[in-house]
Amino acid sequence: MSTKRQGNIQISSENMMPIIKKWLYSDKDIFLREIVANATDAITKYKKLVDLGSAPAPAENAEYCVKIAVDKDARTLTVEDNGIGMTEEEVERYITQIAFSGAADFLSKYEKAGGDGIIGHFGLGFYSAYMVSDDIEIFTKSYRDAPAVHWESDGNSTYSIEECDKADRGTKVVMHIAEGEEEFLNENTIRSLVRKYCEFMPYNIYVDFKGKDDKPVNNTSPLYLKNPADCTEEEYNTFYRETFSDYTDPLFWVHLNMEYPYRLKGILYFPKVRNKVELERGKVKLFCNQVFIAENIKEVIPEYLMLLNGVIDCPDIPLNVSRSFLQNDRQVQKISKYIAKKVADALIDLFNKDREKFEKCWDDTSVFVKFGCMKDEDFYQKVKDIIIYKNLEGKYVPLTSLFGTELTDEEAKEGKQAKAVYYVSDENLQSQYIGMFRDAGLDAVRCDNYLDPHFISFVEYKEPRKVRFLRIDADVDEALKAAENTDENVKKDNEQIEKIFADELKEKNVTVRVSALKNADVPAVVNADEFMRRMGEMNRFYGMGEMPQQLTLVVNATNGAVKSVKGLPAEKQKFLVNHIYYLALLSYRKLTPDEMKEFTANNLQLMQDYAKQA
Ligand code: ADP
Repeated sequence: MSTKRQGNIQISSENMMPIIKKWLYSDKDIFLREIVANATDAITKYKKLVDLGSAPAPAENAEYCVKIAVDKDARTLTVEDNGIGMTEEEVERYITQIAFSGAADFLSKYEKAGGDGIIGHFGLGFYSAYMVSDDIEIFTKSYRDAPAVHWESDGNSTYSIEECDKADRGTKVVMHIAEGEEEFLNENTIRSLVRKYCEFMPYNIYVDFKGKDDKPVNNTSPLYLKNPADCTEEEYNTFYRETFSDYTDPLFWVHLNMEYPYRLKGILYFPKVRNKVELERGKVKLFCNQVFIAENIKEVIPEYLMLLNGVIDCPDIPLNVSRSFLQNDRQVQKISKYIAKKVADALIDLFNKDREKFEKCWDDTSVFVKFGCMKDEDFYQKVKDIIIYKNLEGKYVPLTSLFGTELTDEEAKEGKQAKAVYYVSDENLQSQYIGMFRDAGLDAVRCDNYLDPHFISFVEYKEPRKVRFLRIDADVDEALKAAENTDENVKKDNEQIEKIFADELKEKNVTVRVSALKNADVPAVVNADEFMRRMGEMNRFYGMGEMPQQLTLVVNATNGAVKSVKGLPAEKQKFLVNHIYYLALLSYRKLTPDEMKEFTANNLQLMQDYAKQA
């Protein structure tokens, strides 16, 4: 062939282009990935032929690589490789007749010889470059002894093809950037796109190559490809910092490495969570044979694991696919389950082998774990035994160790309640209650993570016959009751005390109950019904306004001041009852301005009386 030939593109590309433009790629930038992936594919193909002895070996010290060049004046973006190249016939077949799938062709020919590692995407990649170009030229020379070829098309319906004088093996794709797409003529943009889409591609990629000391933009051997047994902690940390531009080391990681029934490699990192906003910014990058596909594909990676940082490479996921396809794909669902299982295994492993580290990381990891449990039943069943809570002594105890024996049908029918686990949600605010629990030799756990209110409800729902949670200020008299005194006189006294308090406090929104508590030095505590309080919190959470809270004042019959109330003159009674009430309220919540006023007045009165006595 020596003359230039013109031709019509066989498949109607007038129909093709709108599809490519609108549907296939939501991100225009992706064309660069397609063109560079073609280039690295071409190198892989050539290497394979060399390995099989079907092609001559390249010159020693010749580097397999892809070079990208931007020419602002000529308005071109060029991607050049030293791969397999194409003959005229191949250009006709693979480029012009886009319905033919070059990769499929190659695969079927070479798969018996171990045709692995070829990107499994077919047919349309090259044409995506027309999203940003109004004309594309290809200069290519096959590894075979055949003339080099120059092909050119504006992407509509005609093309030209002719011989050219390209001397070196490989392909050069020159994209003439269209009006309005000038960003692709900016070297920095191209560099960052290459970093994004081609980060782990298997051959060095240079942008505006400056000679042999130039550094490639990509990392051709990302750590996740290595055998986990051969990776050091330092390597994991470095890979993490480079890939996620984070300056802190991750807490720990899970290296995924699976060959059967599907191939999957990757590393998931548990990052140090500095705040809630950051936590929602986790990033899991999905690759297919080292080609970046997308970030945070929730069909492949369970939603709760997106809080992690990681890379996952799964050659068995089709590259050019729509979301709905992924959702319904069985394979993809299996992959998602596998990843969740591996993460659970890693957590369990750490729990069993290095409890100290597990506990040290728990503040950060517990959010992932709890969120995961609420999202995925299987995950909950797997990890529930390693969920830990700090008790009042500051020691971690497994949640399941706090569960009671499961109620029988009979007991449940009789209305018997599951074992109560008391929890602290605010250590400072609830310090009085904590003190009382401690004195009485009772324990409680700290549930102060922002997910805990949701999580404990979830656990109650999952284990209704084993556990229920009560905040440390709910049902206090139940928990702290002293041995019952059946003496009739004591009972009568208590009824009297109850009446005095109730009468005095009838203007306040509080119910009075006298109860004998173990801690004699506490005159009274406020008790908030767990159920009503949670309803109130829910209302607030969903912006449905405040619910009036009915509080109960548990007046402690074993306390000296309380006992003395009966014998006092009316005025002193009033004073003492109010004072006891406010002290209890202060240990429960902040006072309102009106309450504060009354409490302060009470105190001033107390000071004056005290001064008078002196
Ligand atoms: P796909 O890569 O999905 O098969 P493309 O439209 O991107 O589809 O490319 C079609 C075919 O053209 C490729 O399969 C390959 O055979 C050939 N091809 C494209 N780019 C190159 C290149 N740089 N070197 C050699 N062959 C190429």
